[in-house]
Amino acid sequence: MSDVRAAALLAELPRDPELGVAVPFACTQDDGSASVSSLIRKRVTQCALSRICGVCGQSLGAPVAFIGSRVEFDRLAFHFPPVHPDCGRAILAECADLKVGVLGQPSLPEQWVLATTSGFEHERPSSREGDNRPTFRPNSLISLD
Ligand SMILES: [Zn+2]
Repeated sequence: MSDVRAAALLAELPRDPELGVAVPFACTQDDGSASVSSLIRKRVTQCALSRICGVCGQSLGAPVAFIGSRVEFDRLAFHFPPVHPDCGRAILAECADLKVGVLGQPSLPEQWVLATTSGFEHERPSSREGDNRPTFRPNSLISLD
């Protein structure tokens, strides 16, 4: 994606009032309030069930991408919903200089990876104990940035 297209994409998203960066669809409340630090569970579920992008909120095609920490990648269990590969790259570039955990993860953006896949499973935890957030498991890995 060109820098111009990436800028246009990000310009349509709300801004984090503290950090000044564009906030993805999955981190924006229904009332429009937005924080790049927190993942909104209701939006995550909406992305999974409707197959829409966690960054721009538009329908996904194929391949899809997952963005997350190296730990999430090693476990093949991502918390951030699937995104368009271009949207994933744009939001990682947007957050690259932040020195705080973003998108619902404690890890710094510089430690994040982007994995592309042709499909995924949405896994909802059966237990209410511990970390019971839903995760996404890529079912075939195409590439890793
Ligand atoms: Zn998108």
